[in-house]
Amino acid sequence: METTQESGVQTLEQIQDFKGKYPKQLWYLFFSEMWERFAFYGMRGMLTVFMVKELLLPESDAQLKYGGIQAFIYAMTFVGGLFADKILGFRKSIFWGGLLMIVGSFTLAFSPKELYYIGISFTIIGTGFFKPNISTMVGNLYRDGDARRDAGFGLFYSGINVGALLGGYFCIVVAKNYSWNAAFALAGIGMIIGLSIFIFTKRSLGPIGLPPMLGKLSLAKIRRNDIMVYAGSLLVIPLIYLMVKNSEYTDYFMYTVGPLALLYIFYEIMKLNDKAARQKMIAAMVFIIFSIFFWAFFEQAGGSLSLFALNNLHDTVAGIKIDPNAVNNSSNSVFVVILSPLAGLLWLWLAKKKIEPNTVIKFGIGFLFVSVSFYLYYYTRFFADASGKTSLDLFTFAYLVSTLGELCLSPIGLSLMTTLAPKPLHGMMMGMWFLASAYGQYAAGILGAAMSEVGENATQTEKLMAYTDGYKNLAIYALIAGVALIVISPLIRKLMHDVH
Ligand code: GLN
Repeated sequence: METTQESGVQTLEQIQDFKGKYPKQLWYLFFSEMWERFAFYGMRGMLTVFMVKELLLPESDAQLKYGGIQAFIYAMTFVGGLFADKILGFRKSIFWGGLLMIVGSFTLAFSPKELYYIGISFTIIGTGFFKPNISTMVGNLYRDGDARRDAGFGLFYSGINVGALLGGYFCIVVAKNYSWNAAFALAGIGMIIGLSIFIFTKRSLGPIGLPPMLGKLSLAKIRRNDIMVYAGSLLVIPLIYLMVKNSEYTDYFMYTVGPLALLYIFYEIMKLNDKAARQKMIAAMVFIIFSIFFWAFFEQAGGSLSLFALNNLHDTVAGIKIDPNAVNNSSNSVFVVILSPLAGLLWLWLAKKKIEPNTVIKFGIGFLFVSVSFYLYYYTRFFADASGKTSLDLFTFAYLVSTLGELCLSPIGLSLMTTLAPKPLHGMMMGMWFLASAYGQYAAGILGAAMSEVGENATQTEKLMAYTDGYKNLAIYALIAGVALIVISPLIRKLMHDVH
């Protein structure tokens, strides 16, 4: 069992007193998460096509199932975060989650058709244990009030997107040129690399992420509780299996999990003695609720925007020939990788000048950028030719703008969860942050489906009009959300107390 007394292991203070812009441990977490996202986005990129081509599902069913899988994955982060807080601690949770993701990927690699739903179920549970907890550990590298925290999450967010980009690209290439088995195996190898980096560097994390009950319970009891969590998570795999296999269960799942999670959070909030701590948690909940709307707009990327790219876009950007779907799938990640470190430096620079906008305003600006980007998607209709095809240049530019919005909200949201929640609730709140993504994805699917009501047989021009009408509405909704946040920002700021 690790202890802080081990020779050469830094104390929390030593870690948090780092010099320079980023602590060195951030890089280790960066690379572990980068490879985890390689595996995750690699697999995610294959799912819909695999279900259509190999499992022979109709396209609409495959899309529904894909949405369900996404929702389950992000919903499980709440459970993964909760168990990390209460029992396992972040390190063991990451280890267990990584292991399950590896088992899931290699199950798919071994027999993608026959073991499809089993492999996916392992991946769902695994991601639940891995994803929120590695993000929380990033926050723990910083002392309360350290202005460098947002920049750190910005860098971490670049790592996420480098992984997403490489995984999304290479897994598809391998699937096309070799086999599905090889492509799923590649995702599994990515996960092995990610987990290995974590295991080999975790000593540098000092006491961060150790089990919460260390020193409070006997080692035997701790071990017994750990085993119960491991066994319990294996036992729910058949349940997940059933729910993923039957898409209609997704709805029931979504109707129950969110309200239950909310009830549980309110129970935890009521238990807090300190009024300021309670108010900070309420502020965190406001951010989480707004983020649902944000992802509902933003996640059009995987749904309606990919169909828009398929049907209505030319195939050149700045005169260079390129598949519009490739632009839709990868430009966001490319822009994040380039812009996220710059945004991080911008926040640091503004902080130094004491003019950094507070977090609520940053969130509001995030919505405003997304609003502008949807207005630009709408505006593409004025560049359309007679066949209903329009400018990929403008579309790509709109992606740049929506990425700016993402950078004002998503990495900042991660950072916020680790500042607004009291330490023993960090994991759960990080899980809640991602659970909001699950609902956002779910709502995104519903919004997207409403846009495609013109039907498969409509002309390209009719489709263009239907989709761009939808985008105009989303631009208006995002504008309302952004303005609302900015207007209520003084109120939320009060609830946040010392957090800025
Ligand atoms: N793209 C980011 C990631 O994969 C954010 C995902 C989300 O919160 N929906 O981590």
